[in-house]
Amino acid sequence: MRTAIFLDRDDTLIENRDLPWKEVGTPPGDLCSPAFVRLLPGVRDACEHMANAGFVLIVVTNQGLVARGVGTIDDVEQTNARLHELLTVNGRRLIERIYSCPYHPKGTVPPFNTEHAWRKPSPGMILAAASELDLDLSRSWLIGDAQRDIDAGLASGISPDRCLRVGPDQPLPDLRAASRVILGS
Ligand SMILES: [Mg+2]
Repeated sequence: MRTAIFLDRDDTLIENRDLPWKEVGTPPGDLCSPAFVRLLPGVRDACEHMANAGFVLIVVTNQGLVARGVGTIDDVEQTNARLHELLTVNGRRLIERIYSCPYHPKGTVPPFNTEHAWRKPSPGMILAAASELDLDLSRSWLIGDAQRDIDAGLASGISPDRCLRVGPDQPLPDLRAASRVILGS
């Protein structure tokens, strides 16, 4: 069994809150445009180091914007494809798979306008990845900037000390700092 690091996408790997939303053209927070996918500082190196250490890197991201009619599944896929592209080194993808949850209970677009086991803080995406990719959750880690990321990790059975919250107001400011905790452990 392999060991994973589950990664939130927005404001963990790529810019979101500081994007120029007027230019982006969608409501703040709703990124579904490949042209505005921008890695946060240090993310590429951190991902390379974690992948080189043998961890499987999996992205788990809520994309309720599909349920809310802001973008389509295809827009989300194209945005994720751009992330894969930016995190490819010498033809090798650093991110093994990206799981997106298009559901939101307050959405308007069927069949996505409902609560779903994949939507963080529920652990569905993590559990699906563990089952599909034969991952050992007892030794895996999670990194995210929101409490719902941490809650999803805990609900999946990942150890509390392996669920790392990052952000400017956190002890670990960014992915680079979180990766040092993991690689030094
Ligand atoms: Mg986030």
